Amino acid sequence: MKQPITGFHLDEENHWVADLACGHRQHMRHDPPWMERPWILTEEGRRSRLGIELECKRCDEAALAVAQAVREALLSAAREAYEDGGLSGLCAEGRWELAQDAMRAVDLTPAIQRALGPKRQEG
Ligand SMILES: [Zn+2]
Repeated sequence: MKQPITGFHLDEENHWVADLACGHRQHMRHDPPWMERPWILTEEGRRSRLGIELECKRCDEAALAVAQAVREALLSAAREAYEDGGLSGLCAEGRWELAQDAMRAVDLTPAIQRALGPKRQEG
């Protein structure tokens, strides 16, 4: 997921870190010959990179974790409703309808909050 750079700061080891709009951070090392980012060393260079979008892997991971948590919540709601429908003596069609209603009604907020964790990770 692409996220624009909103600023820069130095970490405790004096390495430059880009602050992204999503709240995540990315190290911007100038470490030749492996990493050539001479622009990070000047105020002007950093200012010229503001607003530029970087690929944020942490956002991708968070989105995937949310998607998986939502899938699990839907599956478990559907499974439970389908079983309840069976116990109530509903036919297959009725159980499937019950399962669909359960998927529509399930509150996804707790699953999403669990997937995102109590606090955003930084790094
Ligand atoms: Zn991010």
